[in-house]
Amino acid sequence: MSIFPLKISKIFLYDEPAVPQIEINDLAKFLGREFQVDVEVRRSLFQHFETKDEVFEDLASCRIFNIRIPFEKHKPTREETGSEEQGQSGSIVLYDGFELQNIYRDLIPASEFSHNEFHLAFTTRLTCSYDSNDYRYHGRAVICSNPAIISTTGIIEAPAKPREYYLKIYEKIGQGLNLDRLKEEFRERFLDYNDLRLCKAARTYAMQAIFYHITGMPFCESKECMLYNAHWQEELIRMLEAGRLCSGHQAALDNYRKCSA
Ligand SMILES: [Zn+2]
Repeated sequence: MSIFPLKISKIFLYDEPAVPQIEINDLAKFLGREFQVDVEVRRSLFQHFETKDEVFEDLASCRIFNIRIPFEKHKPTREETGSEEQGQSGSIVLYDGFELQNIYRDLIPASEFSHNEFHLAFTTRLTCSYDSNDYRYHGRAVICSNPAIISTTGIIEAPAKPREYYLKIYEKIGQGLNLDRLKEEFRERFLDYNDLRLCKAARTYAMQAIFYHITGMPFCESKECMLYNAHWQEELIRMLEAGRLCSGHQAALDNYRKCSA
């Protein structure tokens, strides 16, 4: 835990303009303080770097249409490519997170990886990964490695909502379901779109991505630690409320700072 083979020289954050709740400038200050490193905030990856039309076609080609089969490159329609270029539509589209990561990596010049710079991009695209244990894709809030990707849609959709919420949907579906009212009833128990708590969630997943980068291990067993791998929204909310690392990870971070001083 105390040995960090990698020392980050600079962090680049790429914003997702559709989600102001990330509060990217505050996140940059937080990470700068925690890791004692220079942090640069940039616009979205596609605004910051020159993005050719083929990139949007590539993005559309890593959409997932059948969650039961491993990734197969998809030949996108012109409409799909166009919607990538214009930003996301209202419906949720699934993407293979590792394919997406390859596209993101190709956009960043090699010179910006040469001194252990770390890149972290936010997106509304729902990143997913195929799990060969249960032969299906699962939504992911974070795709680690460099560049790392944090999906705001993944934060909302990947950890499961309380069982009672799903039961109430089934119960009420025949009697005129009012989803907004039901969401309001459960608002303390899961994060939703435009949720102000996304700011804390962004910090949490950014910590996971950076710890993975420097240690190769993103997750912690302690449910109170920011590095816990929450499978349930209620677990995630408990972590956000605690807003801290466990004593072991805090000591590791203190040590990292000492070594970089
Ligand atoms: Zn921990």
